[in-house]
Amino acid sequence: MKSSSNLKSLLKNIDRKGYPAYKNTQGTYDFGTYFLSIDHVQGDPFASPSKLSIHVKGRSAGFPASFYDTKYKQVALCDHLTRLFYQTLSKISFRAKGSGKSGLFSVSKCGQQVLERTACTINPSNGDISVHFEAGFPANGRTVNARELDKMLFRLLPDCISSSLFYKNIDQKMLEEVIHLSEDQHTIRTELSSMGLVAFIADGSVLPRESGISQKPLRNCVKFQSPDTYRVSFELPHHGTITGMGIPKGITLIVGGGYHGKSTLLKALELGVYDHVKGDGREFVITDPTAMKIRAEDGRSITNTDISMFINNLPNGKNTVSFDTEDASGSTSQAANVVEAMETDSSLFLIDEDTSATNFMIRDELMQRVVLRDQEPITPFIERIRELYERYGISSIIVAGSCGSYFHPADHIIQMDQYIPKDITTAAKDAAKDFPMVSLPEKKHPDPCFDRCFNAGNHLKKERKIKMKTLGKDAFSINKDTVDLRYVEQIADTEQTTALGYALLYAKLHLMDGKKDLCAVADELMQMIETKGLSALLDSKYVKSNLAMPRKQEVMAAMNRYRNL
Ligand code: ADP
Ligand code: MG
Repeated sequence: MKSSSNLKSLLKNIDRKGYPAYKNTQGTYDFGTYFLSIDHVQGDPFASPSKLSIHVKGRSAGFPASFYDTKYKQVALCDHLTRLFYQTLSKISFRAKGSGKSGLFSVSKCGQQVLERTACTINPSNGDISVHFEAGFPANGRTVNARELDKMLFRLLPDCISSSLFYKNIDQKMLEEVIHLSEDQHTIRTELSSMGLVAFIADGSVLPRESGISQKPLRNCVKFQSPDTYRVSFELPHHGTITGMGIPKGITLIVGGGYHGKSTLLKALELGVYDHVKGDGREFVITDPTAMKIRAEDGRSITNTDISMFINNLPNGKNTVSFDTEDASGSTSQAANVVEAMETDSSLFLIDEDTSATNFMIRDELMQRVVLRDQEPITPFIERIRELYERYGISSIIVAGSCGSYFHPADHIIQMDQYIPKDITTAAKDAAKDFPMVSLPEKKHPDPCFDRCFNAGNHLKKERKIKMKTLGKDAFSINKDTVDLRYVEQIADTEQTTALGYALLYAKLHLMDGKKDLCAVADELMQMIETKGLSALLDSKYVKSNLAMPRKQEVMAAMNRYRNL
């Protein structure tokens, strides 16, 4: 272990030399109350910034053990510390001068969700904290400017570290609230299913967002208010009694006029698989953690998926038990999304009419009379929805504004009326009596078959270099193959997308060989992450990127969209 004064004199020695001289700084230095590691030095001032990490011993960091004695508290604590560190670093007005990325600090920016990230981790056995971030090592042209790096590492950073990573220096009340909120959220999440519910939305929640590009809560909006018939309550360890709308297992239909808040409610439920920070408005919107948004996704690729539950007898004679396409239609893509969600063991489907293929969702009576069943390849979702619940235990929440057909199979019908939900089940069922029911197919359909053969990534093993690139939240690419995740709507963070890329790569290179069951591969991967940590996805060969934890559902969604599966 070198001391910080070693680093200081090293910086003096390399000042004004060629940029590669910075490579000599790699290593770990003792700064008294913490250790600074220079893990990877950028090749030139314009390349992605250098990777650094800070390590604080548990006894100096001083966080109470009761703040990290469970996994979800560790996640909440580290999320909070990442935010604090980000805030203090972004408050620095001074920026070291120079070419390219000189002087730039970059730390993971957390959004509204509380996610497990590699940016900050705590060791549960001793409370040691590690924080990973990036810094652009300053240069004039391509010459080392070590005086500026000295300022960054010896003047700016120590203050930021001291005011954000030590318990004695931070706002302790605020941190306590963060931990308490995580305990309350955890309580609802664990009790949800045993109360017969798939989702809970607390009274007073704020569901709408500021705008299509901002995840911040909308100000001056109508707060959520549960209808009497669906009101449930939880006793939370810190918040006390909380009331709200419990959406029961089964089939729930959400109807209402245009602009009355249906899609906003569904969107909140989609993201309710994650915990949200205090002040978000959705802190107590809690959804079954396996919930999957199901939508049409024209153009996606499908690899050997059994969509015969929904699609049969295609005019081109194509096999739908092992369906393959590079360019799916609206209905086939939505059928594949349903079957693949079943494969992930999801127990709740979330569907919005706005983003569905109509011919996948319904077939009205007139159409059934004119085009006979055996001339229509599609068995619409409405004919399978009860079976999904009764045979596979999968509940559905469906938003429909224009089509009344789902009144028949629905167990619960909720109307959004000026952003307030009303229970209209009885009235709607009464009205529906006068309309014909959908006819159900006579034959019982076999379970979808999930046996597939994967190529074991030999095409990747042969490559000299594997290049992984994340394109925002919407896609990643492995060498020349881009995986489009634009319509995998429950990805909440770019770092999750990065993690999905590395997860797919890891599975391809290490897990898929000889396997036939994608779910088993994903389970093995999640298990590996659980025991070794999220950063285990990163082979030592790759430059370390910061990752955020995805769900198994999104991991499988990414695999299913890989055109080289
Ligand atoms: P629908 O799907 O029923 O047509 P949306 O959910 O898209 O309606 O909502 C329409 C608009 O109303 C959106 O701009 C949304 O931000 C806004 N909105 C939704 N819920 C609320 C609310 N509780 N208070 C105020 N505005 C809301
Ligand atoms: Mg809508």
